[in-house]
Amino acid sequence: MTLLERLDKGPVICAEGYLFAMERRGYLSAGAFVPEVVLENPEVVSQLHREFIRAGSDVVQAFTYYGHREKLRIIGKEHLLKPLQKNALEIAKNAAKEFAELNLMVCGDVANTNIYDPNDKSTLKQCQSMYEEQVRWAKEAGVDFIVAETINWVDEMKIALNAIKQENLIAVSNFAIPRGDLTRDGYTAEEACKIIEDLGADVVGLNCYRGPKMTMKLLKKIREKVSCHVAGLPVPYRTTEEEPGFLNITDHNCDCIPGGNAFPVALDNLYCNRYEMAEFAKNCLDQNINFIGICCGAEAHHVREMSIAVGKKPISMKYSPDMKKHFHHGVDSSLKRVNKEITY
Ligand SMILES: [Zn+2]
Repeated sequence: MTLLERLDKGPVICAEGYLFAMERRGYLSAGAFVPEVVLENPEVVSQLHREFIRAGSDVVQAFTYYGHREKLRIIGKEHLLKPLQKNALEIAKNAAKEFAELNLMVCGDVANTNIYDPNDKSTLKQCQSMYEEQVRWAKEAGVDFIVAETINWVDEMKIALNAIKQENLIAVSNFAIPRGDLTRDGYTAEEACKIIEDLGADVVGLNCYRGPKMTMKLLKKIREKVSCHVAGLPVPYRTTEEEPGFLNITDHNCDCIPGGNAFPVALDNLYCNRYEMAEFAKNCLDQNINFIGICCGAEAHHVREMSIAVGKKPISMKYSPDMKKHFHHGVDSSLKRVNKEITY
């Protein structure tokens, strides 16, 4: 079944956020944020794929995010571009194979190039070749579809979409919307999505930057405007009307963060819990938004609760909380009732 056939039938869960997850675990550096881990410690990437799959991700996304030519240039390792991309795709495919009975989809990923500049035509050509080479490698690997994401220019998204459609692949086009609720070329989220839908994107929506509430606010408008499937993949952080995106966000309960910006490595106190992410997933379902996921900050417990919230039964549901047997809160008859009167 293709992605679109699956979306016609109901929700598809897509876990992302590999870059942040690997940074937290100590396998890549915040700042440059290059996924060198797929070459240096591939088993760690495989394990995170497994955790997300067990938690209910229907999609195994190859960890090629920010493994593009520009990022490798910044760290002086452009020669690693092809092996990095190829390895990431292979790791994702192998993880999906380990769970053959789940019929998972594998997707390729292209993202913000960070060089797109409407005033410098040479960057358009560079973007085009960066997208084309990545899409080609993903196609060679036999992916089910490609996600183009975290892009905040409509015209950059057009270049990515063209590259995907040249190879006749299914395209999921997800914008990241900055403060002010407009793309950097001045379109509302719903206008941007409509333009890209009309140009042939199969799924349009939002990922990254915003937490579930600030993402949902814009998703509703997108849903009203377009007729194709819609995607929503927020970051699991409590962004607000005052600070809708997590790139510039304050942790008002902490005064020891260097520079004062909680992004990217001091976001811990702004974390959404699993229930908040489950609520987002349920809201998506109510709004007929079927491509449901989670971006930077994701952990498996979020994904599991989101999957359960939309009616699925992920493998790790087996280990959902069961407080009946908790030493203090439990009511199970097998528990010894020692010091139950104490409130800790
Ligand atoms: Zn993200």
